[in-house]
Amino acid sequence: MEIYLSRTQGFCSGVAHAVTIVEKALEKYGTPLYVYHEIVHNTHVVNNFKNKGVTFVDDLNGVPDKAVIIFSAHGVPPSTFIEAKQKNLYIIDATCPLVKRVHYQAMQLSAAQCHTILIGHKGHQEVSGTAGYVKPELLHFVQDVNDIKNLKLAPDANVGYVTQTTLSEDETHEMISLLKKQFKNLRIPDQSDVCYATQNRQNAVKELAQLCDFIIVCGSSNSSNTNRLKETGERYGTKSIIIDNPEDLNLSLLEKIKKCGITSGASVPYYIVDKMLARILKTYPDAVVHTFDNPEKNTQFKLPPI
Ligand code: SF4
Repeated sequence: MEIYLSRTQGFCSGVAHAVTIVEKALEKYGTPLYVYHEIVHNTHVVNNFKNKGVTFVDDLNGVPDKAVIIFSAHGVPPSTFIEAKQKNLYIIDATCPLVKRVHYQAMQLSAAQCHTILIGHKGHQEVSGTAGYVKPELLHFVQDVNDIKNLKLAPDANVGYVTQTTLSEDETHEMISLLKKQFKNLRIPDQSDVCYATQNRQNAVKELAQLCDFIIVCGSSNSSNTNRLKETGERYGTKSIIIDNPEDLNLSLLEKIKKCGITSGASVPYYIVDKMLARILKTYPDAVVHTFDNPEKNTQFKLPPI
């Protein structure tokens, strides 16, 4: 067997930023320390912090007044900031700066009284957060091309769009092409909202799909970018599976595989891929492992006041 490790491995800059914020807050304030929603969508990262005494909450009612609260990498709507301030919580905002950029675009569209089409998965924390920056009467959710076709907006309406940062690049491209056809005054952001980390990881999995006959995507099932990697692998013709814990991999799936790719979501610690590789090599000690240069530079976002 040959094993191909994806070019992109380890945390993206936004995840590294959020994880560092929790680590520094733990050092400075100790426990109890509260995090609103999972800091990133990865069970290993979350369980590691739980073991250190961090409390994760999905409702601010469960947080005592004046406590320290960290908002997760996915961002929150303005109403959550207001609620936290009313409880006199000390807020540390770990929202990824690339998600904040989308919030800013959304605010600009609303300030210009522009109908805002929010492309994303309804119910995902990032999408709920971004929706909060759009005036309710101007907000239109879409998840796919059918939703776009069903929009009740005139072709000459004042329309803009923002997207979730972790969508499929191919599907988003298709939806934006349709929006361009449907709305002649469409406002187009300067840069794609699908972030560099999502794009790099999807490009790397397309490369694996060409080389391999099976792809293992390390990541948690509630991680959007992890799910998009599996879908991308399959769209490009290669059976792909998501595995959160390396010990959960059913090794019999690899019996007839000649070339196996391994990739990981943007919130997966590097050691998980190492463990996955070690587990496979234990059964296939003669497997040849191929690696590639990682295109990502070590970008670091400025930390907020902690
Ligand atoms: S996947 Fe992109 S938007 Fe999400 S945390 Fe990473 S860099 Fe930020």
